Amino acid sequence: QRNHAFELETLMPARITPVASTVSFKDVAGIEGVKEELSEIVDFLKYPSKYRSFGITLPKGVLLVGPPGVGKTMIAKAVAGEANVPFFYQSGASFVQIYVGMGAKRVRELFAKAKSYAPSIVFIDEIDAVGKARGGMRNDEREATLNQLLTEIDGFEDSSGVMVIAATNRIEMIDEALLRSGRFDRRIFLPMPDFEDRQKILRTYLKDKPSSVDVEEVARMSVGFSGAALATFVNEAAINALRRGGVSIVLEDFQAVRDKVLLGKHKVMSLSETEKRIQASYQAAKALCAHWFEVEFDKVTLMNDRLKEIDREIESKTQMMGKMKVYLAGMAASKMLYNEHYSNSKEDLARARELAEAMVNTYGMGASLFPQATDLATLLGEASKEVESFLEGMRTPLEAITERLLAKESVTKEEIGTIMRECF
Ligand code: ADP
Repeated sequence: QRNHAFELETLMPARITPVASTVSFKDVAGIEGVKEELSEIVDFLKYPSKYRSFGITLPKGVLLVGPPGVGKTMIAKAVAGEANVPFFYQSGASFVQIYVGMGAKRVRELFAKAKSYAPSIVFIDEIDAVGKARGGMRNDEREATLNQLLTEIDGFEDSSGVMVIAATNRIEMIDEALLRSGRFDRRIFLPMPDFEDRQKILRTYLKDKPSSVDVEEVARMSVGFSGAALATFVNEAAINALRRGGVSIVLEDFQAVRDKVLLGKHKVMSLSETEKRIQASYQAAKALCAHWFEVEFDKVTLMNDRLKEIDREIESKTQMMGKMKVYLAGMAASKMLYNEHYSNSKEDLARARELAEAMVNTYGMGASLFPQATDLATLLGEASKEVESFLEGMRTPLEAITERLLAKESVTKEEIGTIMRECF
């Protein structure tokens, strides 16, 4: 009898029920920019009539993009907590792992439920699992699920009070249909925490524990740790302190467990000194280029950059070429400094190609209005040539920004301005 019940329960997807989130923005340490961007959504969920009366349309969906463990789920819950609205959690994978036709049915049910609880938040984790961009599982099932999801998103009025927040750590795997306008056109990037944010996160988790450590020191030894990894790091250090019979957590406890946390989290990036330098010059070149070619950004860190993806109403070819140069700058720096090409250029290269494709095929910015097979290579080639010669004349500031990134792990637009003035 028991077994039977158990089986049924595991085969049948769990019922769709919302939770009341108790997470607030102040529980999420750091990522101030992300909170700022999301506070408009909170306001909308709290006072929908205010927006409705002005006829303001807000995005129906927000896509959170970032590596695992950086707090995407947590911040989505915090939005629900701040707005005091029910939170519906679904993982993209759970849609497609069940029987044929079940994924679509579940999507329908989810949105029906969310509407009946509106204002509410639907959070879809790993949304990249839905759609046809991925191989593996049954394609027709995935497509049926995707189509239902698109129908739901397109179908509801944005005054319905349902806000869809989705998360992914691989935006390149997301079905294009989801990224089309009117769907997840608001994208927010969550980077790995930088030096400052790591300190904030560490302080949060050390708050209720006896410790006598220099948090800066611990932050310095946890480059590449996500928020989740930092939480584990503190926990493991506490366990270590307890085991050795200490009265409080000390630096040695962190040193003793660092490797364990690193190995346990194989996705967490840990760079050697050489790799760090390669990465720093890569990012420095991008920052420098963005500054010079007037591509909007607010800061660049060792692992990430926050280039602003503004969709201008009218964007010139020069502006697009500027962006492309930024995407290609890191690679050009590696070539110039190390005479080598590294795999860290993967995402930027993909973005550069994508942009070149749009320029040629959509905007007719190739050699003629009719796209030619050679246009893509020509544009990319031109941009990389220009970047290469630009960087050649910028070795001094490039070096200065690289050092700054190695020391502080991040560099802001203002700091680059200062460095440039000092160099010339
Ligand atoms: P993601 O959804 O990006 O994979 P999660 O939101 O699930 O990451 O984060 C996992 C856990 O890591 C959280 O529950 C929290 O304990 C911790 N965490 C991550 N980022 C932060 C942060 N900025 N502040 C505090 N805790 C964090």
